[in-house]
Amino acid sequence: MTDPQALRSIAIIGGGTAGWMTAAALARVLGKDAITITLVESEEIGTIGVGEATIPPILGFNALLGIDENDFVRATQGTFKLGIEFVDWRRPGTRYFHPFGTYGMDFGAVPFEGLWHRLRQDGGGEPLEAYSICAAAAHADRFTRPVPGGNTPLSHIGYAYHFDAGLYARFLRGHAEAMGVVRREGRVTDVVLRPEDGFIAAVALADGSRIEADLFVDCSGFRGLLIAEALGEGFEDWGHWLPNDRAVAVPSANQGPPTPYTRSTAKPAGWQWRIPLQHRTGNGHVYASAHLSDDEAAATLLAGLDGEALAEPRFLRFRTGRRSAFWSRNCVALGLASGFMEPLESTSIHLVQAGIARLLEMMPTRRFAAADIRRYNRLMIAEYESIRDFIILHFHLTERDDTPYWDHLRTMAVPETLAERMAIYRATGRVFREADDLFSKTSWLAVMHGQGLQAEGHDPLADAMPRDMAAARLARIATVTRSALGHMPRHEEFIARHCRAAVPRR
Ligand code: FAD
Repeated sequence: MTDPQALRSIAIIGGGTAGWMTAAALARVLGKDAITITLVESEEIGTIGVGEATIPPILGFNALLGIDENDFVRATQGTFKLGIEFVDWRRPGTRYFHPFGTYGMDFGAVPFEGLWHRLRQDGGGEPLEAYSICAAAAHADRFTRPVPGGNTPLSHIGYAYHFDAGLYARFLRGHAEAMGVVRREGRVTDVVLRPEDGFIAAVALADGSRIEADLFVDCSGFRGLLIAEALGEGFEDWGHWLPNDRAVAVPSANQGPPTPYTRSTAKPAGWQWRIPLQHRTGNGHVYASAHLSDDEAAATLLAGLDGEALAEPRFLRFRTGRRSAFWSRNCVALGLASGFMEPLESTSIHLVQAGIARLLEMMPTRRFAAADIRRYNRLMIAEYESIRDFIILHFHLTERDDTPYWDHLRTMAVPETLAERMAIYRATGRVFREADDLFSKTSWLAVMHGQGLQAEGHDPLADAMPRDMAAARLARIATVTRSALGHMPRHEEFIARHCRAAVPRR
């Protein structure tokens, strides 16, 4: 028998990436017979229109929706992403790669990184990137999907996508509407609360109509129309650790085939992204307004483009931090309404996906059990904080001393959780994934090592393997990684063969 208290209606406020991801996923899982899902968006207000790089968990989201990957890449002018190249971050003139996938392999309880540190500390082994198929393929502009199950580096390929954010929202809208989601065009002008408990009863639109629902999902962007303006949830500001609060973005013409990776280049008061798509390249300069004017930021961006700018630079403002609660009463905030961290590791779209997954895991009834809400908030806060620490790491672990911006970041006190991770790495070279951490050992190792943190010792477990055996095993991994590249087509060939998009009309 159906629970008489089961939800009958959900209203999603906002039709940006967050709104349409939520609509598509909820419709797919909940079906359209027992529940109505309505999405309200305002063309007049528009969407943020950036958000072009992703991380591997998005493959799970697409699988949930039953999306064919080639159709998806074609529809969004997408390319494949094997990781991020960081240029000038440790100090000007340096570069390193943060790959998806893994470095080498663990041998039983003996971790790969323990063996690698041990060899490097007595003059052996190869640079870290030699053990990553994703780093090697990115440097060689090659890509293929992982080969399932085989004992080859090709089975360790991890990847995600770059895509056009506007086309992505349109693609998801098509899916959601096909699954029964009802779209309402209109501007929300008022949020009506139930007098008895302060839950949201309805939203009122500018045309005088009202939309009632049992559950509201706030995807209205930075202002948090429901979660903040109507329900009064506060904001925990992380600007003292992550002082960037502006971005300026511009598309540019492709110069040559798109690379299978994002590039992030550190600048005197921020950093610049380069995201290659099939039809153009997305670029943006993220910076701290306390250290740089908008005009200077735009000039730096335009001077750092590979190809001709295709539009006027567009300025965006943001505040880094999170809502004090993501789920309050009968309202769950997703996307920019829930908080924001700069796009250095492309985590925002992932946080939308994580929120949807947890909401599905704790799908409420109209009783809205307080324990479900508490658990949701606790898990999402942990996820936000672990990503926050990982992003801070990039800025703090630097040798750059060329501007007051970098001096501040290099010398600031960091969260206790991050300080502990760095201390453990410094002493033993150990990296670890804690509880539900998004970022794996590979990610922590790539960035700690890449930014110049020196491990003074190594994991004692590595001494369990004779030194010659350790050297031979790692040498073998590096050799098979290099030879696996021969089985990978060039990135542009892979796209041409499987998912070439139509040339857009100008
Ligand atoms: P929005 O796109 O702002 O959508 C808000 C929606 O709410 C719109 O449809 C709007 O019309 C509607 N709305 C607002 N008010 C009302 C109202 N009163 N009535 C009706 N409708 C209303 N993420 C990544 O994962 N990777 C990246 O590379 C990345 N790069 C980024 C770069 C920058 C500079 C910034 C700022 C963000 C970046 N992000 C990135 C984040 C990403 O853009 C967002 O997480 C994502 O687009 C989700 O946005 P949203 O849907 O929450 O908000």
